[in-house]
Amino acid sequence: MKKFDWKDYIYKVVIVILISFFMIGVGFGAAEILSIEGNEEIYTPAKSLSPVPDTHDEIIAYVNSCIKIAYERMPKVDYSQSFDIDSNSLSVSGNGSGLPAFSAAVNHIIDPVRDAVEASYESTGIDFYSSNKSLVPLIKVNADDISGVTLSYEYYKCKMCNESVSVQDFSDTCPACSNKDTLKLRYNDVYTIEIFVKTESETFKNNPFPISDDIKTILQNEAKIYKLSKFAIKHDSARIYVEINRLTDKINKLEFITDSSVDTTIEYNDDPFEISCKVNEKSKLNFTWPGVSLNTHKLALEKKGTDVLKATLSCDDPLLYEVTWTSSDENICEVDEEGYLTAGKVFGNATITASFTFGDITYTDSCDVRVCVPAEGMDLSKGKLKLKIGETYQIFAKMQPKDTTDTLVFWHSEDKSIATVDEEGKITGVSEGVVVIYAISNDGNYYSSCTVEVTE
Ligand SMILES: [Zn+2]
Repeated sequence: MKKFDWKDYIYKVVIVILISFFMIGVGFGAAEILSIEGNEEIYTPAKSLSPVPDTHDEIIAYVNSCIKIAYERMPKVDYSQSFDIDSNSLSVSGNGSGLPAFSAAVNHIIDPVRDAVEASYESTGIDFYSSNKSLVPLIKVNADDISGVTLSYEYYKCKMCNESVSVQDFSDTCPACSNKDTLKLRYNDVYTIEIFVKTESETFKNNPFPISDDIKTILQNEAKIYKLSKFAIKHDSARIYVEINRLTDKINKLEFITDSSVDTTIEYNDDPFEISCKVNEKSKLNFTWPGVSLNTHKLALEKKGTDVLKATLSCDDPLLYEVTWTSSDENICEVDEEGYLTAGKVFGNATITASFTFGDITYTDSCDVRVCVPAEGMDLSKGKLKLKIGETYQIFAKMQPKDTTDTLVFWHSEDKSIATVDEEGKITGVSEGVVVIYAISNDGNYYSSCTVEVTE
């Protein structure tokens, strides 16, 4: 009778498994094998602070609620404007014999006009919460005045080449590395929201930063060789662009953007010329949220050592506010009202916290301070040692004083062909001879040695 050969059986099983993996590999591609083997990172999206707004009304309510938060928390707001004439849209027509020369001249003055309009805007920081209530109509979004809303925070990332791909550009093949089915859905921490405002609506008319009306004045002021006989501006579309951090509901950026068509008639040498062009105007608000940040969040001090922490405040007029400093354990580390630190006699960890209060809210940042005992000397557990080739011995470094906090030691063999030493101090005999093994303290100030004789 033939005995059951378990070894032969195991080989067959292993071969079947290997063939199966090969077939799966051919069938599904290398990317899928990677995920079967668990090499693919598990993606956990950051959770939004508030529920993700979905419908038209929910998005507008969310933007208004974030504006309300901004009024309460009083971020610093920087305001700027920009104006752009679309050169491609510029057209000049008329009957006068001077038209070609005039067209060339218009093309020539387009940049000076644009510069003059831009220079007429004042860029300024805005006291968002108290005086400038005129901001309210701009950013209080009335749902009836809106023709459409979009919110986006999703994108795709290629798990093979890490390329980011927008939702619009999504396909089953990565545009960068051409791998198939490698794009994975990801979420930005920031919502990008566009609110399309009806140009005949109150929300649009109440825009406290109307800039396009200035164009007429500037054109008239610039007109030294021509006469402006007709000026018409038509607002084609308007939108509010908002970026909000969905993890904190804080607005980063808010812009009011208008695209308009300008039609003018200019009289030059008594001949009328029609000029039309498209212009784009932007009123931009950039938000800096109040807070405090320290220059470092981890420090080590020696007994009686000193250092200083620097706190940077972000808010309107930070010089008006005082930082309060506290220590979680003054026996370990003291802090004075300027942020100067002095280590005490007790060794250990203390948390130093800087805080300041702005608009009834207290903001804090903290630094972990470790007060340590420096080494004052070092010995090894053995000064002389005999080893046979291939034999090992564990040697230990002893620091003085006994409570030295930094006990890290670097090991070094004078001649690795005779004996080696690993990171933990384990010595191995390699060949016949005598060699010195060194231990060096982490601060580099102390060392100790052991002479090792290796025999057959
Ligand atoms: Zn790719």
